[in-house]
Amino acid sequence: MAKLDLKIEYLPSVGPKVGKKLEKLGIKEISDLFYYFPRRYEDFSAVIKIQDLAREVADNWQNQLSFSVSGQILGISNKKTRRRGFTVTEGVIADQTGTLKVVWFNQPFLQKMLKTGSEIIFRGKVNFDSFSQDYVMEAPLWSRTRKIVPVYPETAGVSSFFISKLFSKASHFLDGIEEFLPAKVLIKYGLLDLKSAILKIHNPNNSEELKAAQRRFAFEELFLISLKSALTKEERRSLVAPSIEVVSSRIEQEIAGLPFKLTNDQTGALLDIAKDLRNKRPMSRLLNGDVGSGKTIVAILAALFVKEAGFKTLFMVPTSILAGQHYETFKRLFGSRMNIGLWTSERKELSVVSSQFTVSDQLSINKFKTDKLIEKCKLKIANCDVIVGTQALIQKGVEIDDVGLVVVDEQHRFGVGQRAALSEISHLSLPITHLNEKFQKVDPHFLSMTATPIPRTLHLALFGDLDISLIKEKPENRREIKTRFVESFNREKAYEFIREHFRHGRQAFVICPLIEQAEGERLKAESLFEEDRKSVASEFEKLKKVFPEFKIAMLHGKMKAKEKDQIMTDFALNQTQLLVSTSVVEVGVDVPNATIMMIEDAEHFGLAQVHQFRGRVGRGEHQSFCFLFSSSQSEKSLNRLRSLESTSDGFKLAEIDLETRGPGVIFGTDQSGMLSLKMASYSDYSLIKIASEAAKECALKISTLPLLQQKLDNFIHNSHLE
Ligand code: ADP
Ligand code: MG
Repeated sequence: MAKLDLKIEYLPSVGPKVGKKLEKLGIKEISDLFYYFPRRYEDFSAVIKIQDLAREVADNWQNQLSFSVSGQILGISNKKTRRRGFTVTEGVIADQTGTLKVVWFNQPFLQKMLKTGSEIIFRGKVNFDSFSQDYVMEAPLWSRTRKIVPVYPETAGVSSFFISKLFSKASHFLDGIEEFLPAKVLIKYGLLDLKSAILKIHNPNNSEELKAAQRRFAFEELFLISLKSALTKEERRSLVAPSIEVVSSRIEQEIAGLPFKLTNDQTGALLDIAKDLRNKRPMSRLLNGDVGSGKTIVAILAALFVKEAGFKTLFMVPTSILAGQHYETFKRLFGSRMNIGLWTSERKELSVVSSQFTVSDQLSINKFKTDKLIEKCKLKIANCDVIVGTQALIQKGVEIDDVGLVVVDEQHRFGVGQRAALSEISHLSLPITHLNEKFQKVDPHFLSMTATPIPRTLHLALFGDLDISLIKEKPENRREIKTRFVESFNREKAYEFIREHFRHGRQAFVICPLIEQAEGERLKAESLFEEDRKSVASEFEKLKKVFPEFKIAMLHGKMKAKEKDQIMTDFALNQTQLLVSTSVVEVGVDVPNATIMMIEDAEHFGLAQVHQFRGRVGRGEHQSFCFLFSSSQSEKSLNRLRSLESTSDGFKLAEIDLETRGPGVIFGTDQSGMLSLKMASYSDYSLIKIASEAAKECALKISTLPLLQQKLDNFIHNSHLE
């Protein structure tokens, strides 16, 4: 049997030199070639009559579609133009309904290739030529048969045509390909088998065949991602967690003692968590609620119950700013009843503070000192009930005993792109175990929280292993944040408005997409019309001049934690009135006196992300505002931004993001790993649904499906999901 892992260079007409080029495209073995899918197709199968062209062109003038016409060549000739070295090849073709002029530039050889009298299918854009007062097809592609021609991503020396030919030469290897999806799944969901699907995706006879092949591969991707989640979930089902009994009367008592009334959704989420904690299996729950919906209080109440059962809670946050803020909040609300500790870790320093242990150690990290420090920390940690910290320190291998609950706040900041299952953050990378009397390994319960509204399709596709609690309701006292798109000619007015608010003692944020304007940045700008993108550094300088009478600070992710903390503290105390920042403030900071959020180059961000920014204001008693600026010329992206004016529902905004810009923009990370699919779409609910249904079934009997297991391992490896 022909082997699929044969190196591509051993195929006839390839060799080492072309092999190297193919490798650049990711094609190393025959099987890679099979999975090297066309980027698009030129459809020579659906031809239209020449007499219908005028109408079709008129109907589709905005889209500049290509059309296919089948006709006989009545004549073809080369013409020299006045510009030297420039030839035009002109031809006239005819079908039963009319004639059409076709032209090419600088392809004189076509005159010999396309002989007068031959029947050819031409495909290209058609325009009305006002000079000849007739329709002309410009630089059409052509084919002698009515087929759908694949167009592959190319590289220097490897054309789409070459790849297509190569596929034909390699197609006998398809006999060696084995289906990894169970036959039952194929039948139940009406999917094409692997061999046929590969054949059809590269060589479809008609659009139905192409659709069937595309559906198979789209299913395959979603299925494999779901299978990974389902297996993770199964695995966690076999783990043991401490069963933490929370009696309902205790929950009611605590809720009643809060300074505000919990929303129904908050109470619901707390009850979900309490139910999970009672279980002997570790909880894997995602708490998903808009900015300001009050997730923190739910988590800290859970931590209280965990403490009462004799266990600790680890509270992981993405930034040291947020760690500090949570630490202060927890101390204020529960400091008299729980020992709260704070861990942050900077590049060179490691510091441990705790409300109970005022000692603060600052040692540079080398092996010896770290060990000593860890010993010291251990003692302190032993006395903490809740430890708030950043992820970095935990990865240094500090073991903490008696952890009953791990909370990950703003989980999407923890490199979602690299992980298929969030639960693994606690399950795999946290060296936290607890030995009970029977010397059984015990894992902590796991709660992740995110303000990123995750559309249900995305949740089902990516996080099938997590149970979900939604907080959709806002606390009663919230006012809507007035959001306005501001035209650039009104910029001065916006500054006046801000000045007025400063005079009344309020504060404002300005968010920019960049830290500094790198040299040559302008060249990199996506379009010619795009102005330089605003940077924190340059806006900071500019705004100092605009508001000389007020104090301005800047903040970005490249600053040291200490510096950032100082800047945030100053801002929180209203010692600075205006904070110019990158997206680092997106995450969690709470300054109730800040009432204006101004976003520069807003089109650069996802809607859900902008929504998070504006969640930084409107946290106090004052009416708050969000101003959006954009120098984009694209009507589409401006309209997209305008939806922020009318919608304050984060989930709705995320749906728009998903449909218009894909999942990457929702998480604010680059499209990588699981987020970049070749074939499937994360908004195709019906396909995601069946893929996850099938995955759940297969997960239960994976041990009997070795081919599927092998495929999954490869898939996980190749898409960096591990
Ligand atoms: P997020 O869900 O974005 O993390 P937080 O937990 O930071 O939101 O809550 C935002 C603010 O709302 C906090 O100051 C919190 O104390 C307050 N808060 C939470 N729940 C309620 C409620 N039910 N009523 C009034 N205020 C609340
Ligand atoms: Mg929060």
